[in-house]
Amino acid sequence: MRTAKRFTPKEAEEIYLVPHWSAGFFRVGRDGEMEVTPLGPGGPSASLLEIVEALRDEGRPLPLVLRFPQILEARIRALNEAFREAMAKYGYQGAYRGVYPVKVNQRRLVLETVAKAGKAYHYGLEAGSKPELALILAQDLSEEALITTNGFKDDDFIRLALMGRKLGRNVVITLEKFAELSRVVRLSRELGVKPLLGIRYKLKAKGAGQWEASGGENAKFGLTTPEIVQAVEILKEADLLDALVMVHAHIGSQVTDIRRIKAAVREAAQTYVQLRKLGAPLRYLNLGGGLAVDYDGSKTNFYASANYTLSEYAEDLVYVTKEVVEGHGEPHPILVTESGRAVTAYHEVLVLEVIDVITPPGEKKPPAPPEEAHPLVKELWEGLLSLGPKNFREVYHDAFADKETLQTLYDLGLVSLKDRALAEEIFYHIARKVYALVGELPYAPDEFEDLEKLLADKLVCNFSIFQSLPDAWAIHQLFPIVPLSRLHEPPTRQATLVDISCDSDGKIDRFIDLHDVRQTLPVHAVRPGEPYYLGVFLVGAYQDVLGSNHNLFGQVGEAHVRVDEEGFAIERFVPGETAEKVIEKMGFTARELTLGVERLVRQSRLSPAEKGAFLERYARELQGYTYLED
Ligand SMILES: *Cc1c(COP(=O)(O)O)cnc(C)c1O
Repeated sequence: MRTAKRFTPKEAEEIYLVPHWSAGFFRVGRDGEMEVTPLGPGGPSASLLEIVEALRDEGRPLPLVLRFPQILEARIRALNEAFREAMAKYGYQGAYRGVYPVKVNQRRLVLETVAKAGKAYHYGLEAGSKPELALILAQDLSEEALITTNGFKDDDFIRLALMGRKLGRNVVITLEKFAELSRVVRLSRELGVKPLLGIRYKLKAKGAGQWEASGGENAKFGLTTPEIVQAVEILKEADLLDALVMVHAHIGSQVTDIRRIKAAVREAAQTYVQLRKLGAPLRYLNLGGGLAVDYDGSKTNFYASANYTLSEYAEDLVYVTKEVVEGHGEPHPILVTESGRAVTAYHEVLVLEVIDVITPPGEKKPPAPPEEAHPLVKELWEGLLSLGPKNFREVYHDAFADKETLQTLYDLGLVSLKDRALAEEIFYHIARKVYALVGELPYAPDEFEDLEKLLADKLVCNFSIFQSLPDAWAIHQLFPIVPLSRLHEPPTRQATLVDISCDSDGKIDRFIDLHDVRQTLPVHAVRPGEPYYLGVFLVGAYQDVLGSNHNLFGQVGEAHVRVDEEGFAIERFVPGETAEKVIEKMGFTARELTLGVERLVRQSRLSPAEKGAFLERYARELQGYTYLED
């Protein structure tokens, strides 16, 4: 006899791979609820379910995101400390000056928290456009912090950067293409200010995977070596060679393989050396972004992972740079990195509520076909009755063929709706029994691999993937997804997720796994009347700002949460976009819409009371949340 074993938080953590991807910020608590530990495993904790319930009690609608500023602070600390330790380890004489590339997440809480937490480390900010630079110039940074500017530049962009320089900020203008050089020379004369210049070097070394095109000789950004030589000549003539302080190289985001990073560092450090030999007083070696996040926890060079740790990254950058420059008798440069993803990914959790479950047929044994049923339906039924461990392949193949034939006959009008419905119930019941039998085999034959997906529930979640997880749609990015509660019960169902957009792409059917990609997510049977929440983790990088208004679903609300020994505090709630706000982005004004509807109402035969009530409802809708609210 089998006795029911207690399902432990450890087992739940292994199913959802929590210790593998959480970097110590999340875990399963003893009561089976997901917990956040923003100061690390030894620090205070809070149940995510309790936070969500507190927000609901305040009347905050879902979906929403939870932001944990303490996690951002911890990441800034970890990054800076990793470089400090690596430099101490190798006797490196330069310093580290990180900058945060704001394009990764420009939301106010993120930017301000990063700036504040980074001040002690002289941590700076990176802009890739005029509006980003305008945003950055007004932030409170250490006087020594760098402000780097990448991206293509017009006169106004360069003027803004030069003004920043005049105001005492260390704004470095990175030349992305050759033509920017003459603009900088002209404008710095015009404004009477000596710029700080960087050259973006087109690395031969590339990243791999999604962002491979950011590096390599065909990259969109950067100067080729002949252009660099020419640029040095022009700067010399303009008496500006002493302004050239930085060489910049960026091989792409989410670089999963440390060997590629090392190759890029070697090449960039060599360029630093060569430019110094040409007389440029280079001080900074900027290695860009690329520090990867291990989304699936597999610690491999799979595209959703990384085969190195933060300290290995820092050590390799420091070590390789030192080795290269010392070989040429050049001084150790100040190392700059522009890590965005690795700084912001962890701090944000998207909370979704399951609002419906779509279950494929055949959960219960169907009734026997009646006398007048189609012979193929009866054949399916006979198959079900004979099904056992010895013949399941054969029965499944026959059943599959019968189902297909019945569908064809139905299209020709030769099978009734009732017969077809019963056939499907029997087929799915067979498939479920076969799935259970296959589960007992030491390994599943390939042909049954898709059964899990075929039989999986579809959890309808109140959100839009296009707004909240754009990378899951656009580039098949994987994010860890975990139920926020009931993790002391074994999950008994497999599911995929669908959103509420009217788009067949609005689904998630790829989930993290240590060896591959899972097609389904283990979940619990949703109980009627009891909310079931899913947390989507590591969504703090790129998702907020890449999200779109497909179907006019707007930005979701965000709660800023701090945790200490006393418990958690919701410091602030920023409501999501109203329908009106999203509609107005499309070029309409709420007033026009209201006038249009008022005209309709006036011409209608509604009673005066109905007219008033309708207009009131319409006005309320414009002010409402764009997601389902009951
Ligand atoms: C996008 C970008 C980054 C950020 O890269 P991450 O991989 O997110 O750290 C850094 N530098 C430049 C120039 C970028 O364009």
